[in-house]
Amino acid sequence: MVKKGKSKIQLIRFAVQVAFLVAVVYGFNTKQVSDRMLPAILLAGVFFCGWVCPLGAAQDWCAWLGRKLHLPRLRVPQSVQRYLQISRYVFYLLLTLGISFALLKGPYQFSRMLHGELLSVAAAVMGIFLLAALFIDRPFCNYFCTGGARQGLWSVLRFFSIRKDTSRCGSCGQCSKACPMNIDVAHTDFVRHPNCIGCFTCISTCRQKALSYGLCPGKKKAKHS
Ligand code: SF4
Ligand code: SF4
Repeated sequence: MVKKGKSKIQLIRFAVQVAFLVAVVYGFNTKQVSDRMLPAILLAGVFFCGWVCPLGAAQDWCAWLGRKLHLPRLRVPQSVQRYLQISRYVFYLLLTLGISFALLKGPYQFSRMLHGELLSVAAAVMGIFLLAALFIDRPFCNYFCTGGARQGLWSVLRFFSIRKDTSRCGSCGQCSKACPMNIDVAHTDFVRHPNCIGCFTCISTCRQKALSYGLCPGKKKAKHS
């Protein structure tokens, strides 16, 4: 089990994100990574979105900048998020059915865009998402990314994820507020939510050290988000 690593894990994640962004600029195709990670997703959850995807990283950095600039942060209430978060799965279904929109194909298209293969309008739309990310966490990932949706669906039965030591939890709700995918971690004993991107932000945020990454504690104890 990986215990909480304070902010060190976030520094490591930042370094990995930068490394993959540089690799993409030099021609690396992140889809290869994504496809090879699929079997691991079944067991351990989605990490591509939180650690590899350049578009996800860019949105994280915009969010960081927005916080530094003290811009207002918008957070979709859980009562609305419950329904709104379905949108990316609807887009994924549409793509699977052959109704293709290049801009909704996710991070792979972003990496292609960096190599000039897509129209400038795609860059403009991505720019809008990055601007939005100054105010709201990962707007593209949360509501539009079909690549993330595909991986999320593979992850719903995973055995390893964010787990909570309820004896330590003070129900402060900070983990829910910090989650870039707007998952209500505070009301979950074991995160098996398909939108979880394995960023460990919730673990880094919890001052009670109530959260860790590990094996599902058992169906009787686990409440799924
Ligand atoms: S941040 Fe920690 S203490 Fe607060 S609700 Fe989340 S798990 Fe509990
Ligand atoms: S639940 Fe934790 S690891 Fe998953 S997306 Fe939210 S903050 Fe990241």
